[in-house]
Amino acid sequence: MMIRVGIGYDVHRLVPDRKLILGGESIPYKKGLLGHSDADVLVHAACDALLGAAGLGDIGEQFPDTDPAWKDVSSMVFLQEVYQKVQSKGWELINMDATVLAEAPKLGSRKLQMARNMAQCMGVSDGRITVKATTTEGLGEIGAGAGVAAMCVALLQFVGSTFGG
Ligand code: MG
Repeated sequence: MMIRVGIGYDVHRLVPDRKLILGGESIPYKKGLLGHSDADVLVHAACDALLGAAGLGDIGEQFPDTDPAWKDVSSMVFLQEVYQKVQSKGWELINMDATVLAEAPKLGSRKLQMARNMAQCMGVSDGRITVKATTTEGLGEIGAGAGVAAMCVALLQFVGSTFGG
């Protein structure tokens, strides 16, 4: 079985007057993430993990933040398009596991819904995607509440007919 792993990492700044969107969930909080799109840091990390595993570059190459088409767009649009590209190259998701790093807010049971949102967006079963969360114990910029980071790994298996490299 041909399998490949990919890693994704992203950080966005927390600012007032923005919605906080994580894994497609709107989280009630006094601040939201700044970015060209909806700045869904978890979905961006997931996209990079998928792209990396399939050897398709990164999210910045696929969806440049200089392109007005992606202004304020839901990052779920990116995830759907990324997984379609990954599948078109003959790859299928085995599993994806992510961690959100945030001092606040607490994500609690919303983590499960974030995983479900991403699974639904990609058309894979819920059990293939897991989302965890941690603080950085008050250390560093994330610990000071200046932003939220996310990391993700994706494992793909090749189900296509001819493997191209
Ligand atoms: Mg990003």
